[in-house]
Amino acid sequence: MSDYKTFGFTPEQVMIRDNVLGLLQDVLPQQKIADLDLNKTEPQEAYEALADGGWLALPFGEEWGGAAATNKDMAVFIEAIGYWHYGIRSAYMTTVIYGGGHLQHHASPELRAEMLPKLIEGKLRMAIAYSEPESGSDAAGIRTRATKVGDGYKINGQKIYTTNAHVADYLVVSVKTDIEAGRRGLSLIIVDTKAEGVDIRPMDSLGTRTSRPNEVFFDDVYVPKEYLLGEEGSGWPMLMRGLNQERLLLAANGGGASLRCIDVSRAFARERSAFGSKIANYQAISHKFADMHALTEAARLVTFHAAEMLDAGENAVSETTTAKIVATDNNYRVADLAMQVMGGAGYVDGEMQRLFREARLGPIGGGSNEILRNVLAARMDLRG
Ligand SMILES: Cc1cc2nc3c(=O)[nH]c(=O)nc-3n(C[C@H](O)[C@H](O)[C@H](O)COP(=O)(O)OP(=O)(O)OC[C@H]3O[C@@H](n4cnc5c(N)ncnc54)[C@H](O)[C@@H]3O)c2cc1C
Repeated sequence: MSDYKTFGFTPEQVMIRDNVLGLLQDVLPQQKIADLDLNKTEPQEAYEALADGGWLALPFGEEWGGAAATNKDMAVFIEAIGYWHYGIRSAYMTTVIYGGGHLQHHASPELRAEMLPKLIEGKLRMAIAYSEPESGSDAAGIRTRATKVGDGYKINGQKIYTTNAHVADYLVVSVKTDIEAGRRGLSLIIVDTKAEGVDIRPMDSLGTRTSRPNEVFFDDVYVPKEYLLGEEGSGWPMLMRGLNQERLLLAANGGGASLRCIDVSRAFARERSAFGSKIANYQAISHKFADMHALTEAARLVTFHAAEMLDAGENAVSETTTAKIVATDNNYRVADLAMQVMGGAGYVDGEMQRLFREARLGPIGGGSNEILRNVLAARMDLRG
């Protein structure tokens, strides 16, 4: 792991990285990852091990037994688990960062007290259902409706691509409580996946086989009003609140996955011979490593810089947005270079083809990189 530099990390952050990687090495060896991927199964044991190790509490306040981790702590942690395995990183972020973030910041004290301790113990899993077949990037253009009935709401509609819904206990669902009011008609509500009228169907995808997307159908699903987050119509600011950290952590994952691509392809290039020499000795191959290194270092630099700005209280929208674009675009480029280094052995079977498939999602998910370029450009005073 010679490229996995820790310059600028505190001793505690180096410990976070080393400890979580040590744990994953034990509970999630590479052969197990390959088997899970083949069988399209989530890394449940590893998730429980993270819970037992107290890692699910990391971002939460001390009143929850958490470490109140900084943004940089979290970026270090996510980079490490993203280095090790896409599925465990995705399982962690779906429940702890997205679901847990909503519970911590938007749920009523009662709901928080009911759900957060279970989440931290690893006994409650969540998923985030915003995207719909007719509305992905346009998150306010959704059609799923929540209609008031008695002491609660009836939900009707459909979501798509909801990661890990099939293994979740609860979904955070974006709904329209007022169909005419645009963003002001958007609300967020927590739905029990076992409630009558919820139908969850896993989807097949290029990568992400250990963290599958799902179609979710809601047919007259009753939800008590206590499960609404905040006020009716306050969904949009709630969606916006976590964006900086989400972009930051998706960037950190991109850096970690790129480091993994370098390690896997380097181990191969040192061993593989062609025309009487190890292929690593050919300049055409070594330059690919130089490019992979430069792309990965650039991603890590903007990511940790953005984390430090957030921790300093800066409104680092441009920086977190830049980090997400650079780290995920670069991760895909690095995966492509690493695959080229490995030739047929990269394309067929093995870890490299999985890393390549998973890297392709980065520029699409979590706010596509086109939408994020719109965000950046809008902050650049370009209008003539
Ligand atoms: C594997 C996977 C897991 C996912 N997990 C989740 C999840 O857990 N929860 C969830 O809610 N969603 C999830 N998503 C959905 C993801 O967030 C969306 O795919 C993403 O937001 C893009 O939306 P879309 O696919 O509908 O594309 P569209 O919005 O239809 O866009 C199609 C293309 O047009 C571009 N585009 C659209 N509008 C503009 C514009 N104004 N300017 C420039 N370009 C534009 C987009 O960038 C994209 O390239 C997941 C998706 C995948 C593939």
